[in-house]
Amino acid sequence: MKRQITCIECPAGCALSVEIENHKVVNVSGNKCPKGVPYAVSEVENPCRILTTTVLTEGLSLKAIPVRTDRPIPKAELFRAMEEISKIRITGPVSAGDIISGDLLGLGADLVATRDSGL
Ligand code: SF4
Repeated sequence: MKRQITCIECPAGCALSVEIENHKVVNVSGNKCPKGVPYAVSEVENPCRILTTTVLTEGLSLKAIPVRTDRPIPKAELFRAMEEISKIRITGPVSAGDIISGDLLGLGADLVATRDSGL
């Protein structure tokens, strides 16, 4: 089976042609540099994304604080991560970069605030 994907590792946006056998990448072509190969393997075998969302607050002037994972997490875990995040409430002031939830769901990514909450 062949799949066409676009490498997003840099602005060149190479069109990659990926040969897949038994859910494993066996050949990648169309990449202008070596980074395209691990990108294709990750995208096909374990696609991951940075999760960006908000966490509700209690007792702060802002109703919600924007947050993101500090590294990509598997796409297959995004829904479960959103469920977990929906249970969190920020009850005191936070600054951009503060960890809101460490090692979210044991996925190795911290959930961090991306702006200050104010008081
Ligand atoms: S294969 Fe290399 S040059 Fe092409 S988009 Fe990916 S990182 Fe950029």
